[in-house]
Amino acid sequence: KAKVVIVGAGHAGGSAAAFLRQYGHEGPIVLIGEEPLLPYQRPPLSKAWLKGEADADSLALKPQEWYAEANVALRLQGVATSLNRGARTVSLASGEVITYDFLILATGARARELPIPGADLAGVLALRTAADAEGLKAALGAGKRLAVVGGGYVGLEAAASARALGAQAIVIERESRVLARVACETLSTFFQDYHGARGVTFELNANVEAFEGENGRVTGVRLKGGEIVACDAALVGVGAHPNVELAQDAGLECAGGIVVDLEARTSDPRVFAIGDVAHRPLPLYERQFRLESVPNALEQAKQAAAAIVGRAGPSPEVPWFWSDQYDLKLQIAGLPFDADSTIVRGDVAAAKFAVFHLKGDLVQAVEAVNAPPEFMAGKQLIAKRTPVSKTKLSDPAISMKEVAA
Ligand code: FAD
Repeated sequence: KAKVVIVGAGHAGGSAAAFLRQYGHEGPIVLIGEEPLLPYQRPPLSKAWLKGEADADSLALKPQEWYAEANVALRLQGVATSLNRGARTVSLASGEVITYDFLILATGARARELPIPGADLAGVLALRTAADAEGLKAALGAGKRLAVVGGGYVGLEAAASARALGAQAIVIERESRVLARVACETLSTFFQDYHGARGVTFELNANVEAFEGENGRVTGVRLKGGEIVACDAALVGVGAHPNVELAQDAGLECAGGIVVDLEARTSDPRVFAIGDVAHRPLPLYERQFRLESVPNALEQAKQAAAAIVGRAGPSPEVPWFWSDQYDLKLQIAGLPFDADSTIVRGDVAAAKFAVFHLKGDLVQAVEAVNAPPEFMAGKQLIAKRTPVSKTKLSDPAISMKEVAA
């Protein structure tokens, strides 16, 4: 019976262990994770958990008992330091050497750091792990000032949560709009306005030069040009860097992520890579890409588990993502690759709308704000490559069922 070793006990790694058992894998499973916690969900760390609306136990993917019942051997606080693909072993920092028949790399990504003066001051924070989130929560509260460097999803969610906790939030963004890398302009403007109306302020086109501090603690963020944004804490939310080093050192093919096929298999047939660290095929878009989302982690965990037990893999899913801010539920399906037109359906001012991105008459992506029917129908149109009538699509009086041309 094959022995599977999983490196990285996050959303992807923890789910892979569960799918392996669900699919009938009977051999040993060892799950190695650097963090002290059982595999847990990260999305609430900037949302419900940060606002105090979810407790720590609710974050765990599976309760402690499950691992004993499912016979999954845990090595928490275990750091894999090297792979020997010839001998099929993983070495841990503790000195332990673990053999495998199949290896799943689920090492995720780490928060990117800003290599600028003052970055090591107390109160300069990141938000990737539960421990990071504890640090951020401790810095928030009525009257505190949080500077958020980076107007991406994590930064904006943290700003919304900070407001809910009575803190002030100032978002500092290098680009001319928030969400510049990940959303269209309509969405950027909408989110900035929505935050602005709830007391968040913005510094756009702003280059952060240094963190200023006193007695070892951050007191402000210095921008190019000299302006200082005063703060009690600064959250750096400038993206994530995939943890590819283990794979790279072991000679596996990497391209800004570990390159895998539709079975999540790397250039070594006994080694799989899943989740944020994987550079994976997107058959719908005929390209390879690295995705950072829970649905992607789950899909690839299924692909690897299916390949290992020798059953047919899941059919490819449309990539999707969500973000919650205030009372807004943003859901995004697909990626706007090669789109040549956009259609806004619904009422932006009423915070209930969807932006469709089309290539010819095919929907490539949909960004839906408080519009689940548009998201659901859009996702299906993307999956099925169904041509749509643009006139019908732009008229919210015509149901989504009827927009197919
Ligand atoms: P991770 O969850 O990062 O897990 C990787 C694990 O591997 C980590 O625990 C790491 O410590 C461990 N590890 C790394 N190297 C080693 C090693 N050498 N040895 C042992 N262990 C190692 N996605 C959404 O879809 N929707 C959201 O709303 C959303 N919100 C988010 C909010 C926040 C604050 C964050 C941080 C992420 C959010 N995401 C969201 C993204 C989502 O959480 C990730 O896509 C998902 O966690 C990826 O799972 P993963 O297992 O690949 O990586």
